[in-house]
Amino acid sequence: MTFLFNSDARRGAIFADAFEKALPNLPFSVDASQVDPDAVRYLITWTAPADLARYRNLEILFSIGAGVDQLNLEDIPDHVKVVRMVEDGIVRMMQEYVLLATLALHRNLPAYLHQQRQGIWSPMPQKQAEKRRIGVLGLGMLAQAVLDRLKPLGFPLAGWSRSPRDLDGVTCHHGEAGLRAMLPATDILVCLLPLTSETRGFLDNDLFATLQQGAALVHVGRGPQLDQAALLEALDSGHLSSAMIDVTDPEPLPAEHAFWTHPKIILTPHIASVTQPESAAQAVIENIRLHLSGRDPIGLVDRTRGY
Ligand code: NAP
Repeated sequence: MTFLFNSDARRGAIFADAFEKALPNLPFSVDASQVDPDAVRYLITWTAPADLARYRNLEILFSIGAGVDQLNLEDIPDHVKVVRMVEDGIVRMMQEYVLLATLALHRNLPAYLHQQRQGIWSPMPQKQAEKRRIGVLGLGMLAQAVLDRLKPLGFPLAGWSRSPRDLDGVTCHHGEAGLRAMLPATDILVCLLPLTSETRGFLDNDLFATLQQGAALVHVGRGPQLDQAALLEALDSGHLSSAMIDVTDPEPLPAEHAFWTHPKIILTPHIASVTQPESAAQAVIENIRLHLSGRDPIGLVDRTRGY
């Protein structure tokens, strides 16, 4: 029985150290060429290796990241459990980023940065937090953690998911009708949806048109969820005020892309939240223990939903 680590050497060394302490009887390897493929029961990777089929006894494929959209789930044998990364480091960083982004948009930071570059000193009217309604697309692990972090600031909070949710202090919507109810009552929209066939191209002209005049967007889901031309149109027409974008398609954007210099956009290079190897290793170790005791690992992906 072997655990195969297929990612960068720095993270591999941290994982190896944690596994040595916590699961000393589980052989751990960072080198696929040195392992007997039949012995590999667990694999951690970002994308599935082309020769995945050689690991005939694989039981769990762990994604090194929070999403699994980079994996082609159809190519992974049905008996293999696919597990996304659920760990404290990712959660904390996403809380920080969305807090930063919502406050930046709430306090008109893109417009003030633009003014600064032009040498303009001109205060703008400021809405109070209790009048700035935040709507989150997705009510999963990260969205719930983010909403918890936003609560003390006094923004009215809402969220939207596929299935009904009940969260303290958050107006929860679900399904098509729920989306139609939330969007017109949203001033800052945060996208924290996984990328699936249903959410590809989700942030489009229709969705932006349904938002409040002057609304803003925080996009921390996945790049292909955003129709970039639709966002530019909504910003340039003045319907949307501003956006903070962490994920794009492609990454990075081409040098001439409008997002780089757009005065209403703050762009970051997919850094909202990054797997932290120390806490990730502990999360994977805990998941192996759960699996060995016959329970489902945390972050088990539902293949039919794609997340
Ligand atoms: P999660 O726990 O799986 O939650 C996903 C949420 O989205 C759930 O509430 C789900 O609804 C909802 N959802 C999915 N498809 C939907 C649909 N078609 N209609 C309505 N709601 C839908 O995921 P998570 O851990 O919070 O992560 C969310 C995403 O964040 C990841 O998939 C990844 O793409 C992104 N992410 C980005 C970064 C970054 O650095 N930018 C870092 C980490 C993660 P139900 O509750 O009904 O299932």
